[in-house]
Amino acid sequence: MSAAPIVIPPELLPSDGRFGSGPSKVRTESVRALADVAGTYMGTSHRREGVRSVVARIREGMATLFGLPDGYEVLLGNGGSTAFWDAAAFGLVERQSTHMVIGEFSSKFAAVTRGAPHLDDPIVIETAPGLPPQMAGDAGNDVYAYPQNETSTGISVPLHRPASGNALAVVDATSAAGGIRVDPTAFDVYYFAPQKCFACDAGLWLACCSPAAVERIRRIAASGRWQPPSLDLRIALENSRLDQTYNTPALATLFLLADQVDWIAEHGGLEWAAARSDRSAHIVYEWADAHEYASPFVADPAYRSHVTATIDFDDRIDAQQISAVLRTNGVVDTEPYRKLGRNQLRIALFPAIEPDDVSTLTRAIDYVIERL
Ligand SMILES: *Cc1c(COP(=O)(O)O)cnc(C)c1O
Repeated sequence: MSAAPIVIPPELLPSDGRFGSGPSKVRTESVRALADVAGTYMGTSHRREGVRSVVARIREGMATLFGLPDGYEVLLGNGGSTAFWDAAAFGLVERQSTHMVIGEFSSKFAAVTRGAPHLDDPIVIETAPGLPPQMAGDAGNDVYAYPQNETSTGISVPLHRPASGNALAVVDATSAAGGIRVDPTAFDVYYFAPQKCFACDAGLWLACCSPAAVERIRRIAASGRWQPPSLDLRIALENSRLDQTYNTPALATLFLLADQVDWIAEHGGLEWAAARSDRSAHIVYEWADAHEYASPFVADPAYRSHVTATIDFDDRIDAQQISAVLRTNGVVDTEPYRKLGRNQLRIALFPAIEPDDVSTLTRAIDYVIERL
């Protein structure tokens, strides 16, 4: 890099410089709305109407957003998607789960069930990062787990059920929910955390559960298997029905989440949000295709994520330097997933991120590359 720092001119700076894949951009309007109600909302009991009505808005808003059929329920609890893996190992998996592993996050859930002493070792169907995922033909009758979007590599997986067997389809939608279309009849559990497409603070997990999943939760709980109460899905189910969490939640997270769900609904719902991410994805991938030294990490366009794009660079370009220069100019978190270790940029395209800002970002990257 040249000695003088590279200063990106203002017209090439996005209006908001946050492109991280989680935590991700929180809309300033949401934070302002929170500030407006803070005096009567923050620091009040989560067992009273003020907070419970926000949880009710979230649960109803999710049911509408995803078009959940009758009998599906929205559960929530503390601890994010990582805590949900632990809860699922206790309260959803009967004996042996099957996992599609295509990157860091999907491998972590498989590691949880492998480590659980009360479960058999899981069946793992693994594909190298970036390659088209291999889908299970038969996953038995227990749990089949896979991500809708593997955030660490930028691969999206079409929603599917195994061709045979009656396994519950348990979908990690942490970075997909709210930004990618979904057919609710294709899952039994669709779980996520709110700091990605839902553009708010972290710390919660949410799970849309089919009647079969609710039945499984009840059956395992009734079987007498010991479960830590904070990870017990039946306790979460009972509290969620009362628009509460088992223990104290982060009230700011709940408020920002309700605000984002309303924001998406006001603009036209999931189709609108997904179309916005589609537009951003088109901008980024078209930009990569137009540059000799850049290429989408995921070669097959059918699997390229429209919410977290990963762009590889050849030897002529040091992507780390690009991210570093962007960062000193206030454009942050374009680094690749740390453990992937590639010469790459990863750019979040969540619905809260303006497609125009994505377009400006590509021009800023061009500007930086010309000057490296
Ligand atoms: C971010 C992410 C997680 C982890 O979420 P936490 O809320 O940090 O536990 C799990 N799975 C996927 C696909 C993710 O993108």
